[in-house]
This record gives sequence, C-alpha cells and structure tokens, in this order.
Amino acid sequence: MNNIQSENNFDVMRFREDFPILKTKISGKDLIYFDNAATTQKPQQVIDSLVDYYSNTNSNIHRAAHHLAEKATSEYEGAREKIAKYIGATRPEEIVFVRGTSEAINLVARTFGDSFIGKGDEIILSEMEHHSNIIPWQMLASRRGATLKYISVKSDGSLDMEEYERLLNKRTKLVSLTYVSNALGTINPVREIIGKAHSVGAKILLDSAQAVAHIPIDVKELDVDFLAFSGHKMYAPTGIGVLYGKYELLDEMPPFMGGGEMIKNVTLQGSTFNQLPFKFEAGTPNIAGAIGLASAIDYINSIGLENMAAYEMGLLDYLYAKALEINGLELYCKHENRAGVLPFKLGNAHPSDVGAFLDAKGIAIRTGHHCAQPLMEKFCVPGMARASICFYNTKDEVDIFISALSRINEMLK
Ligand code: PMP
Repeated sequence: MNNIQSENNFDVMRFREDFPILKTKISGKDLIYFDNAATTQKPQQVIDSLVDYYSNTNSNIHRAAHHLAEKATSEYEGAREKIAKYIGATRPEEIVFVRGTSEAINLVARTFGDSFIGKGDEIILSEMEHHSNIIPWQMLASRRGATLKYISVKSDGSLDMEEYERLLNKRTKLVSLTYVSNALGTINPVREIIGKAHSVGAKILLDSAQAVAHIPIDVKELDVDFLAFSGHKMYAPTGIGVLYGKYELLDEMPPFMGGGEMIKNVTLQGSTFNQLPFKFEAGTPNIAGAIGLASAIDYINSIGLENMAAYEMGLLDYLYAKALEINGLELYCKHENRAGVLPFKLGNAHPSDVGAFLDAKGIAIRTGHHCAQPLMEKFCVPGMARASICFYNTKDEVDIFISALSRINEMLK
C-alpha cells in the first residue's frame, strides 16, 4: 500500500503499524478488516498493557494489605476515572464496570426496570435495535406487565421521529435507543430524542456500543440518564464494558448481582449494600480488562477522537460513492447521517455467498441478521451484507473491496 492515505495530516499508515493483526495474510492476501462494527482490532499499546498488568501487577483489588493489591486497585480505579473523563461524567462513581453493552442494559432492566416500571407503564424502543436492547425489555415487560412500543424505521434507514413524538406520553417511563445502528450505520438524533423523552418525564438509555469509538460523547451535555458501551468495539479487550448512570439514579436502584464486594455488612439474617459503584460490581471484576480499556482511551486520545471521526467520515463517503457506482448494488442506508457502516445487497446474491467470496480475497465483512432480526423483517430480507470501517482502514482497501464486489457482480451476470 502506498502513502496516499496520509491525507489532511492523518497518518493512517503510521497508525496501522500499531495493529499487529493488520499484517495478517488470509489465503495469501493482505487482510482487509471491514468488520469493525462487530469488534475492533487492538493496538500494541493495549496488548502491552495486558501483558504488563499480568507480568508486574496482578493481584486482587480493594481491601489491600500488600503492595501489589494496592497497585492493582489504583490502576483499576484509575481506569474508572479515565473513562468518566472520556464520556464527561460528573464523578467516577457513575461508571459501573460490566462485561459489555448487553450486561449494562440487562443491569438497568433488572434494577431500574424492576423497581420503577410496572403494569401499564410504557417503554419505547425502535425497530433498529440490537437484540441486546430488545430482549432485556421484553423480559422486563413480561415480569412487570409493562408495554413495549417501537419507533418505526423509514425506508431510508432513519427513525420516524414523528412517530416517536406520537408514542411519547405520560405513561412512558423509559426510552431505550441505539445512538448508532450496528446494522444500518444510522446516527440517531439523540439530542432531540433525549429532550423529548425528558419532556414527558421518561428516563433515557442510549446504547452507545457503535458510537463510543466514533463520536465524541459528553453525557452531561447530552443529559442522558444511562449510557451503555463495550470496550471491545473501541480497541480494548473483550469482556469489559461500561454502564454510565446519573448518580442519583444509580443510587436509588437496588443491586444487580449479589456476592463479594457489593456488600457493606452481611449477617445470616440479611445484608446491607456497598456505596456506588461497588454496589453493582459483585465478585472479582475484569481488572485487566478495565486497565486495557483505560489504555485504549489513552490510545484514542493520543490521536484525537475528532481526528479519527473526521477521517472515518471521509472514508465512509468514499466507500459509499464507490459502492454506488456498482450496477445492481443496493444500499439499505439511504441518508447521510451515518457512521462506519455500509449495509448492502449485491443483485440477487445471497449475503453469505458475498461474504465467502470476499473472505477468499482476504476481505472480512459480516453477513446475516446482525442481531437485529426485527430490522431484517422490516426490510423483508433474511440478512444483509455489512462492511464496517474504522480509522485504520484506507482508500486502497476500499478500492480492493469495490473491485472484488464488481467481480462478483460480473460473475452473477
Ligand atoms: N448494541 C449494539 C448497537 C451493538 O452493535 C452491539 C454489539 N454488536 C451490542 C449492543 C452488544 O454488545 P456486546 O455484545 O458487546 O454486549
């Protein structure tokens, strides 16, 4: 690959050097990794932070009586502070470590939901939600007798905001929506969504799994009540994620899981619970994961999220423009408020055949329902093909991808 990618001072070729896996060959071809919405690759800096933790620090945290335990505790709590700063939280206690977005949403459904949502109450979701932001609410609704309402997705892949307004009423207790759709790439108008939810007294949760590595987020400025995201979609390890909640809300919520760490006092008759955020962190947490996530944030900050986002937007526009030149290629996202994702259909080819053909060329995309079966039903398709990019992808890679798609197209004729 040449250096024409180093546009506008964004030295993508230098950043690529940070990701050892990008040197992998697949079927003898250079790997082109266009599956970033499923999980991003990890820079050497993050990998090193894990090796360093296990080589030099490993110990269990809190109640430390020895040096290593104190060091591990301070790195783990330091990670919490870093994350709080990254999303603009008022205090680190508002950051709860979880396994990922799915666990964060389940936590809110089980605690906030079971305590404050009951019979006759309504929860608003949308047709573009990931299963992780549907199932916990369906389970809650069946436990508590609440009603779920879904905002429709329009044929261009955007949310029907007029319908959202019609669905809101004084029975709405919670709106839980994705910031960016993993299947379509649609960026939802979250400021407007949050303002309208609050105007009827509802709380709002933003599933930010697809947003947190691509759009700068300030929870205070957004005035969002809960925010959920996964480390592995932002260059950090798997098995670590975050639930942000406003302090007053988290404080009123009962614990999620029981066990060590989340208690204040235990007797055989009953127990009292720890302060925030430990109340929600039963058992030994993913200490290395939290430290790896902090390292990923350092990495992002060293480049600048705004710089990464601007480069990604330019690359996505290029990808869209090139894809549209292919005869018979249909896009499921037809508006421009989008991030990272090209959801497409190539003629009558089955998405999984397209995926297999591209894989043979070393190009990794994802095909199928993308954990969004209701959305597939809406578009009357069993699945979609999805290429998802991030800041270490290049125009050269897009060109190779497009010529592979054109080749499939030729073969279909
Ligand atoms: N929501 C969205 C929008 C996602 O893209 C994903 C992951 N594909 C999830 C939730 C679930 O995240 P995790 O599997 O890390 O819990």
